Amino acid sequence: MTTEPIREDLAAIPRYVPGKALPQALKLSSNEVPYGPLPGVAEAIADAAANAHRYPDMGVTRLRDELAARLGVGAERIATGTGSVALIGHLLQAVASPGSEVVYSWRSFEAYPIAATVAGMKSVQVPNTADHRHDVEAMIAAVGPDTRALIVCSPNNPTGPSVTAAELDRIFAAVPESVLVVIDEAYREFVNDPSLPDGVERYGDRPNAVVFRTFSKAWGLAGLRIGYMVARADVADAVRRCVIPFAVNGPGQAAALAALEAEDEMRRRAALVTSERKRVVMAARDLVPEVPQTQANFFWLPLGERAVEFAAHCEERGILVRPFAGDGVRVTIGLPEENDALLEALRDWR
Ligand code: PMP
Repeated sequence: MTTEPIREDLAAIPRYVPGKALPQALKLSSNEVPYGPLPGVAEAIADAAANAHRYPDMGVTRLRDELAARLGVGAERIATGTGSVALIGHLLQAVASPGSEVVYSWRSFEAYPIAATVAGMKSVQVPNTADHRHDVEAMIAAVGPDTRALIVCSPNNPTGPSVTAAELDRIFAAVPESVLVVIDEAYREFVNDPSLPDGVERYGDRPNAVVFRTFSKAWGLAGLRIGYMVARADVADAVRRCVIPFAVNGPGQAAALAALEAEDEMRRRAALVTSERKRVVMAARDLVPEVPQTQANFFWLPLGERAVEFAAHCEERGILVRPFAGDGVRVTIGLPEENDALLEALRDWR
């Protein structure tokens, strides 16, 4: 059967696997927060709905201005998109050329290989260390003349650890300025180790730094699809050229602004997640001592060949987690009672 005129390389792209969603099940599979939208968000969406027949502000002006003020950068350095996953794709489209490469650790966020292939770039995947961290020296060594970008996922999805300031300093010192150092901080708000760097604060002025953030995780807006990035003005401009017009819709823009207004409550909720994280990881380590350190709202069970089996065991008990076959299981931190159910499932399994 002919597949013409479809690009042959698309068949090789692994499909993005969303965390399962079954009604009634405890959903610990997609790294969402369990609390519902922040105060004021639902009202802002309802108000914006009255303008559903109009196109939204394509420049996302108010939201970009507000983010710029909070981050201490010019709004021209911010690009927004339909989730940070879309923006990562647009960034790669903006730098791709025949034969160009993007370096990232593996295992890491499953969207990177997809975005790279769609953009027409070659993925150079650098295996994580035995303790599930980025192997920074090996990543640096993987940078070659065709490398356009190196992606650091910090905290790393799905394994949990963050990249340290010393490691990032080293990357910026070792990598030529012509290579974009992309720091994906989707889980930044859950980082509570004060020694870990804030990508915008520490590296924002480097010409080749690009920092990705999202409203999907701690800000509780996964369903509305809003992500943003901070970069040099011409890099942000190039990405904005690639973004689909009106990518961030009106209710999404309104909701993100309302969420920012509720920052204190976001921080309170993030602190609940991180205190649960500490409790749950300690308990999980009694059963699986190899659980790596995590700074995100999830943790990694390195179960190897038994990963799928454990996920099935959880599903039988009405708990959804995210298996990566042959490697491990990623478990999102939920409400205390949800976490207890997960720990019970783990105890029963071993
Ligand atoms: N980066 C990382 C590391 C992620 O885990 C995710 C979400 N799974 C994203 C980016 C994308 O998030 P969104 O598209 O919802 O902004």
